[in-house]
Amino acid sequence: MRNYREIELWKDVTEKQWRDWHWQIRNRITDVATLRQVVELDDAEADQIGKVLGTLRMAISPYYATLMDPADRGCPIRLQAVPSGLELAQHEEDMRDPLHEDGDSPTPGLTHRYPDRVLFLVTDQCTMYCRHCTRRRLAGVTDQPRPASDIDAAIEYIRSTTDVRDVLISGGDPLTLADAVLEDILKRLRAIEHVEIIRIGTRTPVVLPYRITESLCEMLQRYHPLYVNTHFNTPAEVTSESRQACDRLSRAGIPLGNQSVLLHGINDCVEVMRALVHELLKLRVRPYYIYQCDLTAGIEHFRTSIGKGIEIIECLRGHTSGLAVPTFVIDAPGGGGKIPVGPQYLISRSSTQTILRNYEGYSCVYTEPREYRDPCGTCSKIKSCSRSRPLIGLEKLFRGGFVSLHARHAARDERRRDREWHA
Ligand code: SF4
Repeated sequence: MRNYREIELWKDVTEKQWRDWHWQIRNRITDVATLRQVVELDDAEADQIGKVLGTLRMAISPYYATLMDPADRGCPIRLQAVPSGLELAQHEEDMRDPLHEDGDSPTPGLTHRYPDRVLFLVTDQCTMYCRHCTRRRLAGVTDQPRPASDIDAAIEYIRSTTDVRDVLISGGDPLTLADAVLEDILKRLRAIEHVEIIRIGTRTPVVLPYRITESLCEMLQRYHPLYVNTHFNTPAEVTSESRQACDRLSRAGIPLGNQSVLLHGINDCVEVMRALVHELLKLRVRPYYIYQCDLTAGIEHFRTSIGKGIEIIECLRGHTSGLAVPTFVIDAPGGGGKIPVGPQYLISRSSTQTILRNYEGYSCVYTEPREYRDPCGTCSKIKSCSRSRPLIGLEKLFRGGFVSLHARHAARDERRRDREWHA
């Protein structure tokens, strides 16, 4: 991390200004000429960046810019912040909205995919526009909060949809909103009886830790139970400032989780990921997910094989604290939601025995109990027992009396359209 005063561009900035998150947002690096004052760029690179900026926004907080190595084109911070001509490449498998968030959207800015939770995009502004962003079709388009009418419509949908017990506020970055604007949204959500938990997805502890002020934390803690998920990708992002930001949130009683994206050249390395998850635990941030990079147009150069993610989990699980091991997920193209993938630990099974292996390759047999009767269906203790709600997916095979489920577009299904599949 460089001292900002050593950079000509900011040599006259006071400490008070530097630590003021409003100043940081106002002074984000958004053009090539300013960027050239902070990192080395040759003319060809500058030209390519200029072309990318014709369609996609760049914004780098001065704080995050000081983490970049000015001379190293492979610096993991720089790769996440500075546009590359590779973003202009088009591939057959690229998609604009690979997770079909727009298709599952009952009102603008709201995605309702899973049964009991919604994704609420309250702004398209971010402190920094990550080059690997999966939501680049939206992030930075206006660099503004979402219109009040959209916020009202989304809250009304949540109010009238009693299945929604969990609201994930995201964007853009919701912590680019002024405290009062964010509080108004939190207050209205908290007033809805069936909203049990609220989550905020934000990258500000990483890219602009000065945003995590005492007053923000005091406000947030009025809306518990509230969770924050942040987005560290590399241990190089852990600084004394980001440490303080996470500490403030933790002291406000907010459980913190981290969602990393597996990125080529940035963290597709067991040792980097191991260092990251250990750093996160020291910040009291639970490593929650590692995402396989999505099929979003313009980010192919960041993608790794799925096997790399599985290898990373193989080299974490058992090798270090279970608390440090995130779930590796693929957000299914087409809107299928998150699919966890990982190493196989179950080697084989019979009707009475299961053979397993551990991280060392040690294998063992677990003998099933001689007499086990599943109490499900005979007890009446649990109010929300799945027998009293609609069953989804494989639950139907376990508990719904179905003998098979079939894919909607299967040719076999077309031929058998009029046949009953229920047992
Ligand atoms: S902060 Fe999140 S939404 Fe914003 S650019 Fe980065 S990844 Fe995308």
